[in-house]
Amino acid sequence: MASYFDEHDCEPTTESSTPFSQANNLLLQLARMLLEQGPDFEMDLTSLTPGERQAPPASKAAVESLKAVQITPSQAAKGASCPVCLAEFDEYEFVKVMPCQHKFHPSCILPWLSKTNSCPVCRHELPTDDPEYEEARKEKERAKEREAQLDMLHNAMYG
Ligand SMILES: [Zn+2]
Ligand SMILES: [Zn+2]
Repeated sequence: MASYFDEHDCEPTTESSTPFSQANNLLLQLARMLLEQGPDFEMDLTSLTPGERQAPPASKAAVESLKAVQITPSQAAKGASCPVCLAEFDEYEFVKVMPCQHKFHPSCILPWLSKTNSCPVCRHELPTDDPEYEEARKEKERAKEREAQLDMLHNAMYG
């Protein structure tokens, strides 16, 4: 007897379907659309973070301080490529490195960072020039710290 997948002529999906990786792919798709459509493309990122406001662009200072590195021959030989346009990097090509170490063509990542502040691969956030957003983000971090401290306290008392 044929299996379900034979009968329906489809393959079980091998891609991870966790919400994070979906959001992840969606960000890269948006980054590609932005490249295709140009700077007037209106991105709607609110669907990625329901209930939260859309992240503002990365701050100018943060973008300017992104390191540019040259692709080494061994990186090029391994087929290192730009996550946005998927083109392989050339030897000695200059690329922009995010703090999370993800590398992009400047022409691929800079338009993206003028729209929003996170790495399209891993969502690592760059600082923004938006005081309200920064305040909300700090508040979130403080809440996380408080939670961690409570955990520690709890472990010290009962662990
Ligand atoms: Zn690229
Ligand atoms: Zn990243």
